[in-house]
Amino acid sequence: MKIICIGRNYFDHVKELSNPVPNKPLVFMKPSTALLINNEPLHIPDFTDDLHYEGEIVLHICKNGRHVQPDFVKGYYDKIAFGIDFTARDVQQKCKEKGHPWEIAKAFDKSAGLSKFISVDGLDMKNIKFQTKLNGEIVQDGNTKDLIFDFEYIICYVSQFFKLHVGDLIYTGTPAGVGPVKIGDKLEGSIEGKEMLNCLIK
Ligand code: MG
Repeated sequence: MKIICIGRNYFDHVKELSNPVPNKPLVFMKPSTALLINNEPLHIPDFTDDLHYEGEIVLHICKNGRHVQPDFVKGYYDKIAFGIDFTARDVQQKCKEKGHPWEIAKAFDKSAGLSKFISVDGLDMKNIKFQTKLNGEIVQDGNTKDLIFDFEYIICYVSQFFKLHVGDLIYTGTPAGVGPVKIGDKLEGSIEGKEMLNCLIK
């Protein structure tokens, strides 16, 4: 399986990091070794002094396909989860300055927190509320209505480049409110008010 991630997909987050607004999805990937599941704690890697959380909605791909067309895209995802795209912001900043790829800042071991899944049946994919809490306080209050590129556009777009396989995941981007974590912090993620994930930082 592969983990496809979209960056800069909410205006308010693009602005908080002073990045340009993209006119096409910004795509990067994480390997399967990046997965952090079952509410395992995250140990801060020793190569960063500025590890950030990015709470995101994650799509589960349920059908193989290339060049997915808009008329058929609904059949390609069946479940969503709450994910955390952990980012070594200091390392990423250096990569950006040099024009280097981001993998060492974003695709390291355990950098992809993932909750259990819920079915998309009955959900309005263009109006899903999701929140990140840090030590009990809401730090990210997102809604998929604010996506720059919506889920179906993303699936069609990325499938032009990468054949989608059953079980692939797509991290769809984070809203404003990203920030650093330190040892002892507790992150929680919810979708539509339902607690999905919690993660201790060690
Ligand atoms: Mg992200």
